[in-house]
Amino acid sequence: MATSLMQSLERGRIMMKYADLIDQQKEELAKLECLDAGKLLALTKVVDIEGSADMLRYYAGAADKIHGETLKMAGNLHGYTLREPIGVVGHIIPWNFPSLMFFSKVSPALAAGCTMIVKPAEQTPLTALYHAFLAKEAGIPDGVINVVTGFGSTAGASIASHMDIDMVSFTGSTAVGRKIMETAAKSNLKPVSLELGGKSPIIIFDDADIDMAVDLARTATFYNKGEACIAGSRVYVQEGIYDKFVTKVTESMKSWVVGDPFDPHVHQGPQVDKAQFEKVLSYIEHGKREGATLVTGGKPCGEKGYYIEPAIFTDVEEDMLIAKDEIFGPVMSLMKFKTIEEAIEKANNTKYGLAAGVVTKDLNIANRMSRSIRAGIIWINCYLIIDRGCPFGGFKMSGFGKDSGMHALEKYLQVKSVITPIFDSPWL
Ligand code: NAD
Repeated sequence: MATSLMQSLERGRIMMKYADLIDQQKEELAKLECLDAGKLLALTKVVDIEGSADMLRYYAGAADKIHGETLKMAGNLHGYTLREPIGVVGHIIPWNFPSLMFFSKVSPALAAGCTMIVKPAEQTPLTALYHAFLAKEAGIPDGVINVVTGFGSTAGASIASHMDIDMVSFTGSTAVGRKIMETAAKSNLKPVSLELGGKSPIIIFDDADIDMAVDLARTATFYNKGEACIAGSRVYVQEGIYDKFVTKVTESMKSWVVGDPFDPHVHQGPQVDKAQFEKVLSYIEHGKREGATLVTGGKPCGEKGYYIEPAIFTDVEEDMLIAKDEIFGPVMSLMKFKTIEEAIEKANNTKYGLAAGVVTKDLNIANRMSRSIRAGIIWINCYLIIDRGCPFGGFKMSGFGKDSGMHALEKYLQVKSVITPIFDSPWL
């Protein structure tokens, strides 16, 4: 491994420089990201590009703080642990947050001292290639970060099956996550970390600030045109405020602008590609056929491009496809509940467990909900807050292993025990 020759402090210093270069190229990188993925330019600059640079800085500071421990051993033995880089890591990432995903994988792996192959999604390879160029500029030695573009079934599958790759860190769909785990098991038994899909609930209680709840539900479902693994697309509203909530959230969509993602007044750009556009529209048709009521949106819009008016459904039943499947598009399913017990049952009625939101002024409700929902992150009176210091990852079929926070560093390290006899020690 090339980085094994580099002092950890130096690794951190180069990562800081890399972060500065990302910041300096913010405009260019954000534009590339928008062209590739249809993301909003203004938000992309801050959330995706500044967020990427800060992710690097967070882990840069950790590079020289990785150490093992001294062990208390029986007899005349001296024992200690080393925390070594796991080796060559394969990162396979999706298209919805290309830069942020790139750096949430690459940064802790660099800090740990690993070398890596990064495969961006075939829909969005541009910024990954730019990031590889900037890595070289920053002084990261050749061979440490290797970007390989290509399709999942070829480039991605080769990473999963490669005998010289020591670990795979994957973010993407549950179906592909399963394949990667199978392939890893059939090749060199490499450990895998899987950040997978979700169908996250937001539970809004009668005592909630209704305007805040409307705003949260709207952002949770429609941010990034619904192309977010943590989208809160199952919105449960307690019966006392349900009707008022439906009216308010529907009314609020009149000021929601769909259009050119480079225009700062726009709230929602196009879906990433034709396949995703058609998939979302087919779910909307399915919802109508299943008997849900489409109260607003749900149609293609604009003269060209893959734009969809954000859709809100009421009369949604738990067993409908639109309530169960990850649509990955701007589709909100509104459902009613009576009691906290019912809210817990409904929130957990999913194979996924990535995130959940709770909107209430009652601390007891908030505490009970956050301990009862089986999901990796719970937001109370907020939603979609992702922070480089906060472990992020799913329960159940949303995967396992964490990105972000010091927990992410652990997956790129392995612990080795070293034992040696000790003689003539003044104490044992
Ligand atoms: P995807 O699973 O189709 O693709 C993700 C990546 O895997 C791409 O790079 C793709 O080329 C690659 N891939 C596809 N088939 C492969 C195979 N057989 N072997 C190896 N690699 C393969 O997902 P997507 O459509 O790009 O992204 C959307 C999905 O990602 C959604 O399900 C979403 O929830 C999930 N996602 C999860 C998180 C999270 O942190 N949990 C974050 C973002 C997206």
